Amino acid sequence: MKKLQSYVQGEWFESSASGVLLRNAVNGDAVAEISSDGLDFADIRNYARDAGGPALRKFTFHQRALKLKELAKYLMERKELFYELSKATGATRTDSWIDIEGGISTLFIYSGKGRREMPNSNVYLDGPQEIISRDGTFTAQHIYTPIQGVAIQINAFNFPCWGMLEKLAPQLLAGVPVIVKPASQTAFLTELMVKHIIESGILPEGSLQLVCGSTGDLLKHVDCQDAVSFTGSASTGLMLKQQPAIIQNATRFFMEADSLNCSILGSDVQPGSVEFDLYVKEVAREMTAKAGQKCTAIRRAIVPANLMEAVGDALKARLAKIAVGDPDVEGVRMGALAGLDQRRDVEERLELLSQQCEKVFGDFGTGSSLSVMGENTENGAFISPVLLAYNGAANDPDSAIHNVEAFGPVSTLIPYENDDDAIAIAAMGKGSLVGSVITADPNVARNIVLGCAAYHGRMVVINEACAKESTGHGSPLAHLVHGGPGRAGGCEEMGGIRGVKHYMQRTAVQGSPDMLSAITNTWITGAKRNVDGIHPFKKTFEILSVGDALITEKRVITIEDIEAFAELSGDTFYAHMDKAAAQRNPFFEDRVAHGYFLVSMAAGLFVWPDEGPVLANYGLDNLRFSAPVYAGDELQVQFTCKQKVNRDTEEYGEVRWDTTIINQDSEVVANYDVLTLVAKA
Ligand code: NAP
Repeated sequence: MKKLQSYVQGEWFESSASGVLLRNAVNGDAVAEISSDGLDFADIRNYARDAGGPALRKFTFHQRALKLKELAKYLMERKELFYELSKATGATRTDSWIDIEGGISTLFIYSGKGRREMPNSNVYLDGPQEIISRDGTFTAQHIYTPIQGVAIQINAFNFPCWGMLEKLAPQLLAGVPVIVKPASQTAFLTELMVKHIIESGILPEGSLQLVCGSTGDLLKHVDCQDAVSFTGSASTGLMLKQQPAIIQNATRFFMEADSLNCSILGSDVQPGSVEFDLYVKEVAREMTAKAGQKCTAIRRAIVPANLMEAVGDALKARLAKIAVGDPDVEGVRMGALAGLDQRRDVEERLELLSQQCEKVFGDFGTGSSLSVMGENTENGAFISPVLLAYNGAANDPDSAIHNVEAFGPVSTLIPYENDDDAIAIAAMGKGSLVGSVITADPNVARNIVLGCAAYHGRMVVINEACAKESTGHGSPLAHLVHGGPGRAGGCEEMGGIRGVKHYMQRTAVQGSPDMLSAITNTWITGAKRNVDGIHPFKKTFEILSVGDALITEKRVITIEDIEAFAELSGDTFYAHMDKAAAQRNPFFEDRVAHGYFLVSMAAGLFVWPDEGPVLANYGLDNLRFSAPVYAGDELQVQFTCKQKVNRDTEEYGEVRWDTTIINQDSEVVANYDVLTLVAKA
């Protein structure tokens, strides 16, 4: 019998102890044994900290991001191997696509975001400089740096690839080594993927370790520099969160738990409308994708009381067309649960739910009439989709429908009377990962979303206009926050760069502008400028230094300038053109120069006109006009290299220039960042 291996301290390890037997979800055949007996968890954790952490932290955010892309390509080229093995988890090709390609795509997305939204350095600035002294000699900047321990992933069985990769991407991008502990049931697929990741040699040694089997005493060895990222049931999560070492060391603990997600059919929607059909399709899809084993699946379908029957009938018709069976058989639309234990669990919970519900569709338990497509499926973990309809008191937060998660193809229809009632019922889930509303009415959308948002990590509004491109109720995206309050765990993951910050420490750094510039490698207002007489536009990317500056000639603004700019741009707003009207305006004493003229005029003062290393100006950031400019004012520009972002794969880098326009009284009239591309030598 194949025994799953762990990858620890640079080697593959196979336990000599007999392990737990894992079975194929479709036919019940033994797939592998799993055990982590014999592993020394303190050593594993220390190896991550001592070998993986320093190796990862040597790289900049961009270099790590490029590694994620390389890894994503490597895995994508081998995806069919993962699809093949994924069948043993009971997944159809579509289910596996979510897990495998959906997982790999998070690596691609984090790679792109890391290079676009993070600097090519080791320190990430959080927000702007804070002004905390009158003369500006003592200032402050918040920074993020990677935590120096390890990120421990404890994952659920339902997404053996995605569950690992969606966490791995932000963790590695942050610069933190990872120990992955997949759920035993489907760990064979995670093991295969990790084998390929290690074989690729793309990640520095120590940055990824895999534990197949129990985590032993690993959580006794964590400290304040570690993070535990748990996905699974609320009961396991709560137990782990209370481990003494985690509490004593305030170890970061992220919990993504179960959730009784709801989807609300808007009160405006009538049978026969596009939105009605969209609702039925969405609920049926969420019930049956991955055989309902999705933490984001719609468990509670909240519908107007007068439409309970119509929605029930439409869903019944749709679910009747779902063929259940071996995913390898043509025409099968829903595969098996991950194992017989899971089926038992779902059936027990269905019993609880059924006490206050009527069965609208489906069959379960002994004597179930489910017909399963495929040979040799008697020992498979198949179950019918089951749709229930709540027939208890509508507003009972203690009811099983608001408390019991049947982690399978199960959903309950719940009636509501009006928007407020729907919002109150949604909140009875006590915190969910996602909620959706299907409506054609913007007022309904606004009421429901604002009424429900505090209880949800994500909300989806679906109508005809977005249906075609909608990613649907149940798809977490790497760009968006995944997680929810309360029962859902009270944490977040992904959400683009937000998810990277979970693995970094935010520190407020105070000091003089020069010190902060040196620490952050970013010019901070008040820091020295290097005015060496060489126009900074003549310097190639490598030669240019943060702080290199140009103090330009001065220019007096005339009334002719204002008129010429009005003529050229067509902007004849009264405050530029009519003295009396301008004076009636509370902000101006006279005809005021156009702000956009100032920006254009400033470029006229600071550019070096000849061909040189500066290739293009691709935008402005943070533009503010802070004082009016009138004819007769004399302006000057302070133009300072603020930040350089090397593009490792390009012939140029990005340079951000602080641009400050001052008047004859040294008063700042405008400030902004000019963004340019500058050629390398
Ligand atoms: P689970 O039984 O709570 O297990 C989750 C993970 O915890 C598994 O890796 C499990 O390992 C591990 N574990 C269990 N006891 C442990 C212990 N004493 N020490 C260390 N690790 C321990 O959940 P599951 O059955 O795998 O997953 C289904 C649940 O996960 C559902 O409730 C679902 O809603 C939730 N889920 C949530 C999300 C989300 O993003 N919020 C995503 C997917 C699933 P073993 O398998 O080896 O026991």
